Amino acid sequence: MTTNYEIIIGLEVHLQLNTESKLFCGCSTKFGEEPNANTCPVCLGMPGTLPVINERAVEYALMACRATDCKINQYNKFDRKNYYYPDLPKGYQISQFDLPIGFDGAVTIETEDGYKDIGLTRIHLEEDAGKLIHAGSVADSDHSLVDFNRGGVPLIEIVSEPDLRTPAEAKAYLDALKQIMLYLGISDCNMEEGSLRCDANVSIRPEGQEEFGVKVEVKNMNSFKAVENALSYEVERQKKMLENGDVISQETRSWDDTSNKTVLMRGKEEADDYRYFPEPDLMPLEISDQWIKETDDNLPELPLAKKERFIEDYELPEYDAEVLTDDFKLANLFEETVGNYSNPKEVSNWLMGEFLKLLNEEGISPDESNITGNNLASLLKLIDDGTISSKIAKDVFEEMFNTGKEPEAIVEEKGLTQISDEDKLVEIINNILDENQDVVEEIQSGNERPVGFLVGQVMKETRGKANPQLANKLIREEVAKR
Ligand SMILES: [Zn+2]
Repeated sequence: MTTNYEIIIGLEVHLQLNTESKLFCGCSTKFGEEPNANTCPVCLGMPGTLPVINERAVEYALMACRATDCKINQYNKFDRKNYYYPDLPKGYQISQFDLPIGFDGAVTIETEDGYKDIGLTRIHLEEDAGKLIHAGSVADSDHSLVDFNRGGVPLIEIVSEPDLRTPAEAKAYLDALKQIMLYLGISDCNMEEGSLRCDANVSIRPEGQEEFGVKVEVKNMNSFKAVENALSYEVERQKKMLENGDVISQETRSWDDTSNKTVLMRGKEEADDYRYFPEPDLMPLEISDQWIKETDDNLPELPLAKKERFIEDYELPEYDAEVLTDDFKLANLFEETVGNYSNPKEVSNWLMGEFLKLLNEEGISPDESNITGNNLASLLKLIDDGTISSKIAKDVFEEMFNTGKEPEAIVEEKGLTQISDEDKLVEIINNILDENQDVVEEIQSGNERPVGFLVGQVMKETRGKANPQLANKLIREEVAKR
């Protein structure tokens, strides 16, 4: 008999807030500086220095809390999490223990069975530690170097409830969370630069069993895909252990991307090990009703709400709404264009087609191109009034994308105006018919298929400038006359 297991996953996400300066001092948070360039006595943990809270970081944390429906501890405080590690010169990290800034929130994810709310246990503020640098791997290196540039950088830690039931749900949760934070503009969520890090807690239990299984923590996953893979691996590992009658031990494991396995890092530490106590050098944070209200009033429209509204207001297919709202900059461009041009589906087609294609080719984001809501709307109007063909429009679009020139100027400059002059087209068509006598006879004998070929010849002859519908009509007329 095989046992079915239920999978229980909870995620802890560390997100770097994109403030200009660190959480408790004025040092820059800029990525990629010389090692230890962004340091001062406070973030180097020199004795006698005092931390001063960065108000912007609190503001951002508050935004993250309210956008994920967290309640706020209006009286919250900082605590010292004590442990010794070379990247932590003070011997403690300033974090929040029993009174996090936010608690009891939720993030909505889309699953195959529809929407599902994933609970958030808490969101708290804390400072980052420094970074150890080794020559080669940790095991091979004969020395460690420490870079404290990241020490004291503001983070929020977002802890989910164990509500995730599959590795795919875990990935969907991360996608949704990242999208919300990008909409808020409070973090760049760049996993490669370490501004978004994720640890997972995973356990399994036989279906129907109330009691949770032993949970294992998995660290060092460097992409959302890696999170999904690591969780899938870990779930299988635990199943095999249980089926062999082995006991799963509570431990921390590390995901190894090259072998596609989780490997043992260390046994699990308990909160007791950290000897948390209130940070005596910082006043408690008091968050007024007014501050919460202002935060709520200033929250941008969030991704799911925007998607629903796009479907409702612009009558877009769900797929289009999903793609367009995936990035708020793309969504903004869509709305700007629709403000000047009243066919939303056509705008969507251009943005999802030509625009995303060019963005991918260039590897840039929507606001880095030269396309604006105004010049895209102008281009679409030029197609509608017959000035240019939609084929030519693609070339004009690419030119607009690269140079930012107005479409009218490009059409004028390059002489791209569509040929809708019947006399001129008839002349071109008759030349082509003369050269393709056999095709003419085929059409005359009742086979209409070669008409398309002749339209193609006309388009070629006019370098795409002929109006294809008109050419089609005139070809039929001219063939009939022969
Ligand atoms: Zn500093």
